[in-house]
Amino acid sequence: MEFMMEMEDRYGHRLSYLRVSVTDRCNERCRYCMPDEEQVWFPRAEVLTYEELERVVRVAVGLGMRKLRVTGGEPLVRRGVVGFIERLARIEGLSDLGLSTNGTLLARPCVADGDGGRDEAPAAPASARAPTTARRLVAAGVRSVNISIDTLDRAGYRAMTGRDYLPRVLEGIDAAIDAGFPSIKLNAVLLRGQSEAQLLPLIRFAGQRGLLLRFIELMPVSTREVLDDDVFLSAGRARRLVEQELGPLTPRTDFRTNGPASYHQLPDSEQLVGFIGAMTDHHFCDRCNKLRLTCDGKLRPCLGSWLEFDLRERLRAGADDEEIAAFFRMVVDRKPEQHDFRDAYQPGRRMVAIGG
Ligand code: SAM
Ligand code: SF4
Repeated sequence: MEFMMEMEDRYGHRLSYLRVSVTDRCNERCRYCMPDEEQVWFPRAEVLTYEELERVVRVAVGLGMRKLRVTGGEPLVRRGVVGFIERLARIEGLSDLGLSTNGTLLARPCVADGDGGRDEAPAAPASARAPTTARRLVAAGVRSVNISIDTLDRAGYRAMTGRDYLPRVLEGIDAAIDAGFPSIKLNAVLLRGQSEAQLLPLIRFAGQRGLLLRFIELMPVSTREVLDDDVFLSAGRARRLVEQELGPLTPRTDFRTNGPASYHQLPDSEQLVGFIGAMTDHHFCDRCNKLRLTCDGKLRPCLGSWLEFDLRERLRAGADDEEIAAFFRMVVDRKPEQHDFRDAYQPGRRMVAIGG
């Protein structure tokens, strides 16, 4: 297969990173994401099959998208996802395969799904001696795993996520470490009144395990309006609170991951902490390299914009690979210079449907 140079948009963003949401479903109910217990999920027929997803990824890799992150919803709740990931990892030209997860299912025993990543086959029964899902993911080719953990306080976790799953997440993190992912990052959303007391415990937790922790500002992407002054805690404020306790942090502009986090080094320590200031960092979009594919087949050029383009319709109308590639280029041409969260705040955009 011939590989193209990365696609570039009108503003000089070079697109190398595709986030693929495999499901809108989740086993948690985070208050900033999908706070209502009752959810209306996409009907199954509207969700792209693994075959469809794999085909789109192949075309995207041919267009220079080298990095891929599987996300959701909670990606590990979709049956056959490990087999699907195994197939993605075999795509020639893909250099980095990652997964975003709430961590609750990483420690669960997982035999080969037995379905090679197909939707219809029943999952094979897991036995207690089977390797953990984390190990299977590493064996499947996942390099980097991002695990969400907003608090280490069990009651706080329950209040934040609607589920008493903190012990499972901690087991999941241990399972990820044991499995040997080359990169493990912890992500904590900042919520005023909740996060302040958790900043240092989370930093210590990450430091003791050698994991990279990032604090993320709340964004207006939820099933309900979540963002107001009562709950918003800026990355800058969080950083100042950390500095009050630990002393000045040193900006490490030389250190970057695939995303927009800015990293700071703790005093008298090698440990770095990341801050993702989606709402307050005016350079947030400068180096954006991402496109998003939602689980119902919409290609989105920007997380923080309403723009989305229906690729599923084309796929199911029989589009060939060249037409899919042309569709990608059309979407890239429409990528905005920056997100419009600040100017056009509109609740009702579902992070789970967008593919956080
Ligand atoms: N279920 C997985 C998880 O929780 O990591 C993957 C999907 S989740 C939508 C991806 C990331 O988006 C998580 O780190 C989550 O904390 C974050 N997120 C969800 N809603 C958010 C919001 N309103 N503002 C900022 N981050 C949000
Ligand atoms: Fe589920 Fe992740 Fe959304 Fe929480 S943030 S409800 S874990 S998809």
